[in-house]
Amino acid sequence: MERKSVRIILLPVGTIEEFILDTLSKATSRIFNCQVSIYEKIKVPDEAYNPARNQYSSSKILEKMRSFIKLENGEKALGVADVDLYVPGLNFVFGEAELGGRLAIISLTRLRQSFYGLPDDRSLFLQRAVKEAVHELGHLYGRGHCPDFRCIMHFSNSLLDTDRKSVSFCPRCRLPEWTSPV
Ligand SMILES: [Zn+2]
Ligand SMILES: [Zn+2]
Repeated sequence: MERKSVRIILLPVGTIEEFILDTLSKATSRIFNCQVSIYEKIKVPDEAYNPARNQYSSSKILEKMRSFIKLENGEKALGVADVDLYVPGLNFVFGEAELGGRLAIISLTRLRQSFYGLPDDRSLFLQRAVKEAVHELGHLYGRGHCPDFRCIMHFSNSLLDTDRKSVSFCPRCRLPEWTSPV
């Protein structure tokens, strides 16, 4: 298969298990048909922590990522964090991306069943992580939210939405270069 030179960089923000990063790397490489590199982790920035909310500002983490990463033409970077993220005005976010930009972040924290007092389900957790990663990267490629609840670009208000949607783009959202030959 012809590989595009456009790369996706996965940037662990804090310690993230290698297997999770590998899973994300393989899935995004396949779906976006490009090379994916995993970078050395950076520390979760202290200044992103909001003690009143006991959460981290995703926008402040994106700012920190910007100062750490030198992106070449067309490259995109996805931060992977395991702290609870928020943006002002929302209780929490699964992730944040600059629409049509180069930086995005996802949080793994709310993707575990144990967060909700349920027994952990490893494969469900990994599936959710892949979906969040592909969704935020979709935003970096300029895709907005999609009304089709099966499309990966459908907005996830809760994990019910995440679990209901597929990991792929609907024909309207998919870019031609993502269609890998079968
Ligand atoms: Zn979104
Ligand atoms: Zn769609």
